[in-house]
Amino acid sequence: MVANFFWGKRDGKKGISWIAWRDVCKPKSQGGLGILTGEELNKLGLIRTCWKLRENDNLASSIIRDKYLSNRRSVNFDRGSHCWRSLGIGWELLKKSLRWEIGSGKNINFWNDWWIGPKPLRQMCSGPLQEEEENWTVAHVLNNDKQWSLNIPSTLILEIKNSERIGEDSLVSNWALEGGKMDSQSILKVLRGGEDREGDWDWLWRIKSHPKLSLFLWQLWWGRIACNENLAKRMATVNPHCCFCPSSIETPDHIFRHCIRATEV
Ligand SMILES: [Zn+2]
Repeated sequence: MVANFFWGKRDGKKGISWIAWRDVCKPKSQGGLGILTGEELNKLGLIRTCWKLRENDNLASSIIRDKYLSNRRSVNFDRGSHCWRSLGIGWELLKKSLRWEIGSGKNINFWNDWWIGPKPLRQMCSGPLQEEEENWTVAHVLNNDKQWSLNIPSTLILEIKNSERIGEDSLVSNWALEGGKMDSQSILKVLRGGEDREGDWDWLWRIKSHPKLSLFLWQLWWGRIACNENLAKRMATVNPHCCFCPSSIETPDHIFRHCIRATEV
């Protein structure tokens, strides 16, 4: 539905989807427009619900928070109503975007929870883990001088050895805004697997121009504008040649660089 709205209608017919929707939804730095997919919107909604339950001070929120959304790891969200299972999905997603502050370290999984560095250690190391290693807690490793089987980046090893321990294990956010509001953009970066890295397309969005022109340049850079060559590929009836240069195919490059009309400008 969003895609249909985006590509519009012409003469009552559905507009042409010039670029695959999965590419349109990619971050701007990677060639998309950063539009949220339905799945991402759904996940953000679930995370927001759990975040509000953690932050609100009313009685219902505090009961659910203290009983189920605390640092305990044994709550079973697999059984129950659709609403309950959705809450479980939201809570797991929220935990992934929260960072642990180490207290005893007994509640924190050494590899899979985010407690040091920019993301969970498991995402920074490749290779298989032994079953026993998979379940190590931070306390287990720090108190027993363990040797791990995967190569952890050297900068992190020192950080792990010097990690501070404060009170109880607790989940903290790097993205909470003033007044307990949630920064959806930061959460989205976590959902999409880390920081939005610098990409080949950033130059396009640094150009100061009217949004419509930026959008046209974006489409042009993909080579998917409504030139005769592209129209002919989608509608067999269109002549792919340029109406000013009958011997040339009207490609995006032809329109802006080689067409006799373009050279006159
Ligand atoms: Zn031409």
